[in-house]
Amino acid sequence: MRFTNATLPDGSRHDIEVEAGRISALLPASVAASGADTIDLGGTLVLPPLVDGHIHLDKTLLGLPWVPNQSAGNQVSDRIEAERRVRAARTVPEFETGSNLVRQIVASGTLHMRSHVDIDNQLGLKNLDEVLKIREHFQGLVTIEIVAFPQSGILRSPGTAELLDEAIAQGADLVGGLDPVGIDGDLDAHLDTVFAIASRRGAGVDIHLHDGGEGGLAQILAIAARTESNGLQGKVAVSHAFALGSVSTDSVTRAADRLARAGVAIMSHGPGGATIPPLKLLREHGVEVFGGSDNIRDAWSPFGNGDMLDRAMQIGYRANFRHDAELAIAFDMVTAAAARVLGLKDYGFKVGGPADFVTVEATTLAEAVATRKRRGLVVKAGRIVAKDGVLI
Ligand SMILES: [Zn+2]
Repeated sequence: MRFTNATLPDGSRHDIEVEAGRISALLPASVAASGADTIDLGGTLVLPPLVDGHIHLDKTLLGLPWVPNQSAGNQVSDRIEAERRVRAARTVPEFETGSNLVRQIVASGTLHMRSHVDIDNQLGLKNLDEVLKIREHFQGLVTIEIVAFPQSGILRSPGTAELLDEAIAQGADLVGGLDPVGIDGDLDAHLDTVFAIASRRGAGVDIHLHDGGEGGLAQILAIAARTESNGLQGKVAVSHAFALGSVSTDSVTRAADRLARAGVAIMSHGPGGATIPPLKLLREHGVEVFGGSDNIRDAWSPFGNGDMLDRAMQIGYRANFRHDAELAIAFDMVTAAAARVLGLKDYGFKVGGPADFVTVEATTLAEAVATRKRRGLVVKAGRIVAKDGVLI
């Protein structure tokens, strides 16, 4: 199998030779190759598969008739209550809507993701069951890492700690958390619970942290301290971390060094209504910074489509990126950096690597991020799995 006339991100033109699902060679581009086993890419840009480092497959309402986002406050606690009302009225299983989202995501070139899954004392492990079914249904096409996410808090939803532990036993990969102070009102009790389960089960940690200012920063530093004391360096992430964008440069610079030392990664989705962490500063200080969609067409947000080139553009827009080298940072956040955070061992477009890639009508990475044109082909293990934005 050969894909001819591919433009690689470095601007070079090659034919991609595929054997047994892997890239066996990158050859000089053909002048006029043809044959049953040859697909001419016509010089389109070939990118590694996109990676969504933060999504909520169980929350989306994608594929259902429009569900009005009810008027309510925009505090995290307001949105939790708004979501409970939407959930109570829901008749279609999460497996169905989550599967709609996976199909749309794969068609846009994403082949790996980390999904948070709601767990509280009303839901129990119902949503986990649904997302485990989604993971099994789409295995071989897309990898799905699962975070057991206490959306209603841990202390304020008694029984959730035990459910989080059971979720890991049943197949979730990481323990989540949510604003230890802002939602649960007890930093130590919240983090003690999360890190105890993670240590005991050998799981990673990914904590939603919306709390801003110095108070939020103190929580981020507490997460870094616990990461080190539990020996979980490289397995912990803080999602959103709005606080890093709302404190002084001195404070965030010190925090960046602390986070880098502790091996704590930071996820940003390019928030519309909150401060964004200083992505370049964090990277320059050695912090792994990655991207994700977060909410897509759910009770939290009417927006989003799961397209990680769209997301890279939004991250770049919010971060005030203008130069091509900056757009490359946004692209890295939704590809290689996210892959490292997800611990994907077999990731990357290279000879010997998996024949996984996506094509886009652009000449450079920066153009792909800025124009985010519809994807041509999505190829998984040498097989075309989507074409022109539609799953095959
Ligand atoms: Zn989230």
